[in-house]
Amino acid sequence: MLNPTPQPAKGSAAAQRQALLHHASAAATEPGGLADLFRQLCSGSLADLPQPGSGQTLARWRALSDVAAHDLSLVKLFEGHTDALAIHRELCPADLPAPGTTWGVWAAESPEARLRVSWDAANSAVIHGRKSWCSGAKILSHALVTAWDGDGGGPWLVALKLDQPGVRVTGQGWQAVGMAGSDSVDVEFNGAAGQALGSAGSYLVRPGFWHGGAGIAACWYGGALALAQTLRRALAGPENSPKTPPSVIRAIALGRVDVALASTAALLRQAACWIDQHPQDDARPVALRVRLSAEQCAGAVMQQVGQALGAGPFCRDAVFARRAADLPVFLRQSGADRDFQALGEHGATKGDEAWSL
Ligand SMILES: Cc1cc2nc3c(=O)[nH]c(=O)nc-3n(C[C@H](O)[C@H](O)[C@H](O)COP(=O)(O)OP(=O)(O)OC[C@H]3O[C@@H](n4cnc5c(N)ncnc54)[C@H](O)[C@@H]3O)c2cc1C
Repeated sequence: MLNPTPQPAKGSAAAQRQALLHHASAAATEPGGLADLFRQLCSGSLADLPQPGSGQTLARWRALSDVAAHDLSLVKLFEGHTDALAIHRELCPADLPAPGTTWGVWAAESPEARLRVSWDAANSAVIHGRKSWCSGAKILSHALVTAWDGDGGGPWLVALKLDQPGVRVTGQGWQAVGMAGSDSVDVEFNGAAGQALGSAGSYLVRPGFWHGGAGIAACWYGGALALAQTLRRALAGPENSPKTPPSVIRAIALGRVDVALASTAALLRQAACWIDQHPQDDARPVALRVRLSAEQCAGAVMQQVGQALGAGPFCRDAVFARRAADLPVFLRQSGADRDFQALGEHGATKGDEAWSL
């Protein structure tokens, strides 16, 4: 079973989201198309996903996976916005983002691009420096950024408006072909004003940090699922006779894809359940496991689908071609061996019931 997602209730935000994606141009490649679709996804209650750990974590991840299956740059922006809302609810529930605003979370800490924070007389944050990997910088209204104070304390998480004199969105740092639409450029801050959320370090130590990290796995899963659907459609197509070699090869590939997707889907469902049952516990191993599983699954799906279908869809199907270019780039947000090491060290020192049947 390649897509176990149940149909959402009529009129629900999930159903509206699906309808919006269904009617949107599949490509969203026209100038401004992706930005328009993203803004529509952030309007009303469509981006108001269940908080991780609230009992509906899986519904949240299904939403991310659905958007990812439509377009990976789109989900990069949507995931950032919904993560920012979840962070606000966790760290600063009395001051939630205003309706109509759109948010990114820029927390990458490149050694050559770290932000400094100081405080003005009114105790507002003042930000200086350069931040790399700022997805959506050209179209968002606000961002949460990590920054370090003069004593090296932090990271502080600072909310700021992007349309202000102290913020300059550069065209630098982003030559990507895959994930081009996420436009994850460098941004310069020169005395930009903002408000800190929580205290130094609270961005990293809150339970939601790893819940958000696990949500990325749902995005990768959705991208892999969409590639797999192309293979499934090809196998079911009228040009396939059950006895021809391409059909046999495609069936073998789809079998391998089925095992990869079903394994990761099961792990995602289990992880969502664990987070709902232990919302305040350290979800790091759970999140690392689903991220690494989704990364491996996506790699296997790309390999199998590519081999089974050949050059055709890469060269003749615009949506498939972009998805196949986007997914490997998006996957590079994985910590890869660093995360395997962390997971191994956790398993070695603490043991884990995750292996029990
Ligand atoms: C499409 C895209 C969009 C992004 N958008 C955002 C965004 O909106 N906000 C944001 O904050 N960030 C964003 N990022 C940045 C991302 O989260 C990372 O910060 C960025 O990719 C740099 O980290 P890195 O792991 O690639 O680099 P490095 O830390 O230099 O690592 C490079 C490689 O070496 C491996 N490695 C490093 N250390 C070890 C170790 N000790 N053991 C084993 N292996 C190791 C890593 O796993 C990685 O594969 C985005 C990245 C991409 C690709």
